[in-house]
Amino acid sequence: MDIRGHHFLCMLGFRGLGYDDVFIDNMYKIIRKLKNKQHMLIKAVDNVDNICAMCPNNMDGECRIENYPGSVKERDRAVLKILGIKVGEAVRYRDVVNKIKENMTEERMTNICKDCEWFSLGYCIEGFRKLKGG
Ligand code: SF4
Repeated sequence: MDIRGHHFLCMLGFRGLGYDDVFIDNMYKIIRKLKNKQHMLIKAVDNVDNICAMCPNNMDGECRIENYPGSVKERDRAVLKILGIKVGEAVRYRDVVNKIKENMTEERMTNICKDCEWFSLGYCIEGFRKLKGG
């Protein structure tokens, strides 16, 4: 399974909102699978992944909104850099979650995600706070 960097943060606060029903269903399935198989190796990427696979913005393997609002790819790279994960690296989900706990901060997350249309809902940061135990 491929997961792009910024999606590791999206998954923390996902509450069933998304681009359409197919996208939402796929997102739930992936989150469930990763939670149930935390030891499974996944590939951290900075391009379309298994979540994008069912997204209406995925146009022939490219994100249609890559440059709006702000580069999606740059968000992936910024998240992975903070977590100390290389683009293309094979990682276990439980290790990614631990790295988020250890290395991500609200300030860093806000800097990366502030221009995303979903961030202002507050769900993502609440999911992050929950993970941190706050
Ligand atoms: S909007 Fe772009 S990055 Fe987000 S899930 Fe869809 S294709 Fe992937």
